[in-house]
Amino acid sequence: MIIDMVNRESFWSELQFSIQGQVITPEDAGYDEARLAWNRKVVQYPAVIVVAECAADVATAVTFAREHDLGVAVQATGHGNIRPADDCLLILTRLMNGVTIDPVAQTAHVEAGAQWGVVLAAAQQHGLAPLLGSSPTVGAVGYTLGGGLGWLGRKYGLSADNVVSFQLVTPDGQLRTASAAENSDLFWGLRGGGGSLGVVTSMTIRLFPVTQVYAGNLYYPASMAAEVFRHYRAWVSDAPDELTSSVLVMNFPPIPALPDFLRGQSFVMVRGCYCGPIAQGEALLQHWRDWQTPLLDDFKTIPFSEAAAISNDPVDPLPGFNSGAWLRELSDGAIELLVGYGLGQSSPSPLVFAEVRHAGGAIGRVAEGTAVYGNRHAEFVLSLVGVSPTAEAHRQLVTYVEELKAGLRPWLTGGVYMNFIDGVESQQRIRDGLAAGGYERLAKLKAQYDPDNRLRYSFNVAPDR
Ligand SMILES: Cc1cc2nc3c(=O)[nH]c(=O)nc-3n(C[C@H](O)[C@H](O)[C@H](O)COP(=O)(O)OP(=O)(O)OC[C@H]3O[C@@H](n4cnc5c(N)ncnc54)[C@H](O)[C@@H]3O)c2cc1C
Repeated sequence: MIIDMVNRESFWSELQFSIQGQVITPEDAGYDEARLAWNRKVVQYPAVIVVAECAADVATAVTFAREHDLGVAVQATGHGNIRPADDCLLILTRLMNGVTIDPVAQTAHVEAGAQWGVVLAAAQQHGLAPLLGSSPTVGAVGYTLGGGLGWLGRKYGLSADNVVSFQLVTPDGQLRTASAAENSDLFWGLRGGGGSLGVVTSMTIRLFPVTQVYAGNLYYPASMAAEVFRHYRAWVSDAPDELTSSVLVMNFPPIPALPDFLRGQSFVMVRGCYCGPIAQGEALLQHWRDWQTPLLDDFKTIPFSEAAAISNDPVDPLPGFNSGAWLRELSDGAIELLVGYGLGQSSPSPLVFAEVRHAGGAIGRVAEGTAVYGNRHAEFVLSLVGVSPTAEAHRQLVTYVEELKAGLRPWLTGGVYMNFIDGVESQQRIRDGLAAGGYERLAKLKAQYDPDNRLRYSFNVAPDR
């Protein structure tokens, strides 16, 4: 799109005049702050930014983009950027952050920009819980569009499987509802298909009666990593659905914010959340306590409102690197590689952690194809996380992770969990994150709803015309 300098101001003021929120252009003082993503690795230069305040703002912005042939990108927090929002109209949803709980129906109505922590706090006031993930500062909608695997996942399923309805603006500027009864094709494609079919303005999700859980972490010495991973494999082989857990190699960074005991140290950790009767959760942990005394054992009864303490994810923005894959099994060979690369071999590992999360349970009981979300029957998902402050550090991480995944190939399913990968990898591996035939069906829906592929900054699915 070419806008001559003379008409530039009046061009954007036309948009500003028609919305309640704010229009920010590259000439405005707030532009550099507004274009930031939580993940500071993302550097993006949108043609214009719309800080939307309501669904009508989103509809106006999307219509404006269509009329002026602009692509449309959406950002709630910037935790999960796939492709930088360059030369397009970027809609920031952060001010659309209302949450309303219906305690009778046990649902929450969540606006596009609400973070999980806000939904959790509101729901807990009624003795209810949403299916959030490890971080309360992740956006509820973005997480759900990618699937949404959290600490209640094995018991109650994916966040995407517990959406009652979405309200969205499709690229033609229409505000629509997508549910099992209305626009069910869109409903299918939004649950695991990212934001490729529309800009979600709000969603209604189911809540569950969870107020306290038995949860925490066990820390063992890094030297025990392989045996802890093997012991973990045995532990989860017959785990009840109430237990969602993970095992990880953790390299705590040498930062002042950490206590001496952790700063710059490596551990192998077992992490989990049991949402059934507390006594049964305690009994499950006996498997570990009878085996080897951990260096630190902070598994205890906690209010679910404190679920963020289980993973203690970073809250402040940082240049993050994410990669991952679904594992067919946690074989001895896979464990050897995960531990070797997780801790580093001849030199320290560039990874902050290599975590294997246990999925399955309710997630795998939903029939494949119910939604476009794929890989339901794989039980172990690998999440590899690093910090990449420089291009050089990023390249090193990419090479390291590629090497690790090449070694792991015999035990990988070939699928990826889209929420656990980012950047170029997430642009290239969309098909591998979807149900069989999902990409092709999504491409047909794109031809119907987004023939010009305006929403190419999320999961980029080429319209099949
Ligand atoms: C610290 C951390 C912890 C995490 N923990 C978990 C976890 O436990 N489980 C899990 O499943 N995932 C987890 N994730 C991944 C996270 O769910 C994804 O990165 C998710 O995409 C983030 O959503 P967001 O809205 O916060 O980010 P954003 O970067 O703002 O958005 C992410 C994607 O969603 C699209 N999107 C956002 N809002 C809308 C909308 N309203 N309409 C259409 N498209 C939209 C964006 O365009 C973008 O493609 C974690 C990520 C981080 C960084």
